[in-house]
Amino acid sequence: MADLLLGKGVVDRIAADLGPRIEALKSAGVQPTLALVRMGERSDDLSYERTACKRAESLGIAVRSIVLDAAASQGELEAALHTASNDAGIHGCLLFRPLPAHIDDARACAALAASKDIDGITLDSLASVFTDGSTGFPPATAAACMEMLACYDVPLEGKHVAVVGRSLVVGKPVSMMLLAKNATVTMCHSRTDDLAGVCRAADIVICATGRARMFGADYFSPGQTVLDVGINFDDEGNLCGDVDFDAAEPVVAAITPVPRGIGTVTTSVTMAHVVEAAEHLLAALSGGASEGENR
Ligand code: NAP
Repeated sequence: MADLLLGKGVVDRIAADLGPRIEALKSAGVQPTLALVRMGERSDDLSYERTACKRAESLGIAVRSIVLDAAASQGELEAALHTASNDAGIHGCLLFRPLPAHIDDARACAALAASKDIDGITLDSLASVFTDGSTGFPPATAAACMEMLACYDVPLEGKHVAVVGRSLVVGKPVSMMLLAKNATVTMCHSRTDDLAGVCRAADIVICATGRARMFGADYFSPGQTVLDVGINFDDEGNLCGDVDFDAAEPVVAAITPVPRGIGTVTTSVTMAHVVEAAEHLLAALSGGASEGENR
């Protein structure tokens, strides 16, 4: 039977680390604050907003919701992001995406200051991921994968990791972050030949395709660690990952379930980035590092 890599272990570890740091910020007169910028009332966004508010409250992080009409203009959205970027009382800002079709996603992302970009959506943040730089933050889901691997002491140096999916939210950034830890990374996608064979040959497989239960037993081999990033719904409306858990679990050594896996860690990583941004602002105000450099 495979070890279950539960998100709760990572969530608890992050909470234990953040507790004293949040207290120290509050003692210095800083209330760490997250801004959630939302256009319209998409049920996915509202559901994530509820989860984020609950997690923030439990940690002592304040949340401000900035809600625009779904029909708001590009200019109105960019103005809201500029305002959040310039508000000293906001330390991190999360823009809910996908945005409505009439909004230019790249221009919207560019309107956010990298110092408050806790989910790696600005080009400055992404450049840092690719250059081991210190501006902004990596995408929270990619960082959550790294936290999961670190928390469960999964060795990375010299190990072969197959990352399936090449989005800017998960696949590409997590590949770079693994590379920075001296893993050997194979980035896979929908045109990869013999995907099952590539996955079977890896020590670690990270599945981020958005294809419900597409990874069956033939994608895995004994001894592997599997991270399932997928958040999908099957034909019966049940929440499931990219991995066919029942088929993979008897084969591999360790696996994250869906739900109770990576998804829960992503929210905690978002909160950790808010705290880090607040610490950085405090240090900048006290004459330390320049604002924008967070890591
Ligand atoms: P995305 O932008 O749609 O990217 C999907 C990637 O998977 C693409 O690179 C695509 O390849 C690849 N892919 C699709 N079908 C494939 C196949 N049959 N074989 C091999 N590769 C295939 O999705 P995403 O935003 O990265 O999200 C991926 C999954 O993670 C989704 O289920 C999403 O809900 C979940 N997610 C979870 C969290 C979390 O907190 N846990 C956060 C974000 C996303 P091509 O590039 O060739 O098209």
